[in-house]
Amino acid sequence: MLFSKLYAPTLKESPADSDIRSYELLIRGGFIRKISSGVYSYLPLGWRVIQKIESIVREEMEKIGSQELMLPIIHPAELWKMTGRWDDYGPELMKLKDRNGREFTLGPTHEEIVTYLMKNELRSYKQLPLSVFQIATKFRDEIRPRFGVLRAREFIMKDAYSFHPDYESLHETYEQFYIAYENITKRLGVKYVIVEADTGAIGGNVSHEFHVLAKNGEGKIFYCEKCGYAASDEKAISGETFSPNSNEPKKEMTKIDTGELKTIEEIADLLKLPKNKLIKSMVLKSKNDWVMALIRGDYELNLSKLRSLLKDQTLDFADPEEVYEKFGVNIGNIGPINVPNDVKIIADLSVKSVVNGVVGAMEEKMHYINATPLEDFKVDEFRDIRFVKEGEKCPHCDDVLKETRGIEIGQVFELGDKYSSKMKAYFMDEEGNQKPYIMGCYGWGVSRTLGAVIEQLNDEHGMLWPRSIAPFEVAIIPVTSANKEITKISEQIYDFLTKKGVEILIDDREVSAGVKFKDIDLIGIPLKIIIGKSYEEGNIELKLRYEEESTLIDCSDLELVYKEVLRKLDEYDPSQALKI
Ligand code: ATP
Ligand code: MG
Repeated sequence: MLFSKLYAPTLKESPADSDIRSYELLIRGGFIRKISSGVYSYLPLGWRVIQKIESIVREEMEKIGSQELMLPIIHPAELWKMTGRWDDYGPELMKLKDRNGREFTLGPTHEEIVTYLMKNELRSYKQLPLSVFQIATKFRDEIRPRFGVLRAREFIMKDAYSFHPDYESLHETYEQFYIAYENITKRLGVKYVIVEADTGAIGGNVSHEFHVLAKNGEGKIFYCEKCGYAASDEKAISGETFSPNSNEPKKEMTKIDTGELKTIEEIADLLKLPKNKLIKSMVLKSKNDWVMALIRGDYELNLSKLRSLLKDQTLDFADPEEVYEKFGVNIGNIGPINVPNDVKIIADLSVKSVVNGVVGAMEEKMHYINATPLEDFKVDEFRDIRFVKEGEKCPHCDDVLKETRGIEIGQVFELGDKYSSKMKAYFMDEEGNQKPYIMGCYGWGVSRTLGAVIEQLNDEHGMLWPRSIAPFEVAIIPVTSANKEITKISEQIYDFLTKKGVEILIDDREVSAGVKFKDIDLIGIPLKIIIGKSYEEGNIELKLRYEEESTLIDCSDLELVYKEVLRKLDEYDPSQALKI
């Protein structure tokens, strides 16, 4: 490809709305352009990378026998109502109406569509198991679209679905997808971690996420170096146990005036108590229920754990106005005493350790001190509903948990019969009984991968593409266009290597050598062939993206040039440029 003909509008300056390095580089490198919040166009360079990611994903899917198809992006509301997700999926579901007032959604995921599709087609156990996938556009009306393609509203996903006669068959296929996903991640050439994950709005019991390690990643991961346990923060548990301090005599619960002070920090300061003596009371509401969650002051509530515990994805924090209406007091003074009967009180396990603690008094400006759970107030259930912290005991061995950050690029789920039962998608088993399919689903964020790889692999000059998905493997840089000899040999090398199948961008633009070097490094081409000064002695320079020094080679034998190019490309490892 000639750079002079390539539509790659590179920019010197970062975009004003840049909130993360990968987004800045994608804009500056001319890979993408923003159309509106969370909606992007992919320009030729960006699209080349996307297509390479798609090819890797497609190959790994085909290797495990999954078949490609294409499902619609617009879904009739009735299908989503059948599974209850029309209401339960939440505001990310982009709802719309056609000219006749019929309701639809833009597909954020396709469990309903694919289950409906198979429902009347897969009738016998003889047709199972079966797995299908598509690579297509998804739409999620994200509350905070940000970080460019990492959290977009319109994005490209590979989604696969599998149908089984029983769990044994599901486990087998799940395992195959797990390995395929690991292969994809390895072929991308990035450092990654696989974690146990929460199943969220998709549902099911077993799930794993695949994360690209990146210091700016949104996903927090806890892991144990000794035994290999790893889980997302939403799911991570620890081996810590909690019981009341038996040496501390119980004191009488007393109401005190805490004035306008509301936060845990303010009240701990006022009472000169450590935060682990305070109990936070939080009010949550779902479609049908009220819940009060209690958590020790030095921990944070984990909403995902609470949602999966109650099997209710509609559960969320109640608005301050709703809380006032329900309890007659502001959220800062909410507490577990005098709670209406229809409010379930769930306390984190850590709350068990509190003796003579502090809770809101359900009265303006008032708190109780010396409040002890089960003695002074009722708790319906003690459960693990908190985020673990770095340094806590590993749940499986005697080591401690460490924390790191990643970007989720893929997730696999064992769904079971969640969708098939609700949609009455049955097959006939060997004994002639009607049974719902047992299903799995497997998502891969194709466009998120574009940003995630850059987020891990970049330096001060720009992107550092792994060879497998680089938009071009090699750039030829003739340092001047004024010297006919240089132009000629550049073209000869370009033609020769192109015929050999090397993907080359030749920078034939009428710009200074400095501009060429900057742009080629910005867009992260693994290898540069520089044709300049040393050509007077019959040499050209080969330089990997992160190398300071170039290798000089004689260019009279093009076969030799080709061999050297391959050798350098084999040696290329973009992570060498980084200290991660
Ligand atoms: P997240 O927790 O980051 O919101 P998710 O768990 O809701 O993602 P899944 O339903 O598991 O996402 O979707 C499968 C894959 O699709 C994700 O692993 C991710 O790579 C990609 N993906 C999800 N949401 C977005 C988004 N808003 N923009 C780009 N890619 C996304
Ligand atoms: Mg996910």
